[in-house]
Amino acid sequence: MLIDVSQILREYGGRINIDCTLDMDDTDFLGETYHFEEPVKVVGSVVNNGETLSLEVSVTAKIGAHCARCAKPVSVIECFDIDESLVKGDEQEQSWDDSGAIVFEGHTFDLSEIVLDEFFMNAAGKYLCREDCKGLCPQCGADLNEGDCGCKTVDPRWEALLDIMNRSEND
Ligand SMILES: [Zn+2]
Ligand SMILES: [Zn+2]
Repeated sequence: MLIDVSQILREYGGRINIDCTLDMDDTDFLGETYHFEEPVKVVGSVVNNGETLSLEVSVTAKIGAHCARCAKPVSVIECFDIDESLVKGDEQEQSWDDSGAIVFEGHTFDLSEIVLDEFFMNAAGKYLCREDCKGLCPQCGADLNEGDCGCKTVDPRWEALLDIMNRSEND
């Protein structure tokens, strides 16, 4: 969604209130597909504070993804705040400058793109089906939440230690 800031660009203290929902497409990030189960809610404002525009919004998104350990589908509500500076530049594409400000071109910025970027910085990749998910057996792939699969798995760190112990026994 493009936010038109032409009205506040020349007006110190000028403010645009933001209260909207964004339709987001499924997005791939680091091998996971994130599905936005509902339109993403964004509430806050963008204010001209002289040198930059200050964007402060709260984001609420309902995300469908997969447990990072056992790959079961999970559905989570993710809430986070965005607090960014926006500066007007000549770049063709919205980007970040060296100071960490977001550079936009013309008199609009793309709110959806910022929300998506910040979502991946804040949230992606950490979802679990439950706090203590045991994950999958590395040997047979069984879901260890459903019980012990019977495979003998040894933590590689222990394996090295057992190795040393065996060797000293044989000496
Ligand atoms: Zn899990
Ligand atoms: Zn197993």
